[in-house]
Amino acid sequence: MSGCSQTYHSAIHSPNQVQTLEQPGIQTPYKISNGLTGFLQDEWTFSVSPTTVPKPAKKPVLKPKPSPAPRITQKKKKEPSIPAQQSQQKKLTLPQLRLKYPQFFRLNGSNHESKIALTFDDGPDNKYTPQILDVLQKYHVKATFFVLGIRAQANPSIIRRIVNEGHAIGNHSYDHANPAKMTEAQFEKQFTQTQLILDKLIGYEPKLIRTPYGAIQENQLKWAAKNGLIAVNWDIDSLDWKELSDSQVVANIMEHTHKGAIILQHSAGGDSQDLSGTLKALPIVIEQLKKQGFKLVTVPELLHLPVAK
Ligand SMILES: [Zn+2]
Repeated sequence: MSGCSQTYHSAIHSPNQVQTLEQPGIQTPYKISNGLTGFLQDEWTFSVSPTTVPKPAKKPVLKPKPSPAPRITQKKKKEPSIPAQQSQQKKLTLPQLRLKYPQFFRLNGSNHESKIALTFDDGPDNKYTPQILDVLQKYHVKATFFVLGIRAQANPSIIRRIVNEGHAIGNHSYDHANPAKMTEAQFEKQFTQTQLILDKLIGYEPKLIRTPYGAIQENQLKWAAKNGLIAVNWDIDSLDWKELSDSQVVANIMEHTHKGAIILQHSAGGDSQDLSGTLKALPIVIEQLKKQGFKLVTVPELLHLPVAK
């Protein structure tokens, strides 16, 4: 069992995956490309300082250039629904999936509303998650917790506390297995099993899922959509799982804030993982975001979606 530990992260990404995310011409709004490539690059190379991610010279612009896989996109460019069958000649990258299935794969909310969503992955544990809840409670801030089924089973009272205090819950798989290495059946089991666990604890199945590492393949996204689920990643990565200091976590977030942002942090980690930076950064981040006029909301509120499926 592992959370987003550094060694676990570094082990699962191949250089090929990073290259596929850096294909030219695939640009999406709000530094999404930067966020995704930076995230994956950092995971396996550790060569980029998290606070030195270069800002784009120009304001990022949506450029829906033709996909490198025209065979797939030709007939159904604008995809309001998921096709029943589709060939899998070429794997689509995350930015390509985002462009093809904008309704089912979300990274952020409207850039017309001064709202931001804080998200916390990999919990609940009984060490950091309660402390994060304490901070959120103190500041009257509602956040979203993408939880693991195995940890929900182990910490049912904390799951209930999350819900009772007005936060939203999303499904982050059962035990954080890597979606890139799963069969369809294994992928489905990871999420359906966790839905049932959460349903028993909170009385409903969450509408939102977040795959481990934000990694998702087209068939997996289609399965989620067919089952009434929305996949939600992020467009600001605190990189807190690297056991960064509070000031580094604050910088990674505050240097990239914008309307509609979804911020990734963690409320639990591996057994020896130190998330004290996350915890210390949280009051500072909340105060600064509020000072900048942002309202902190749950992901369902940000995306105007129900919490339950
Ligand atoms: Zn995770």
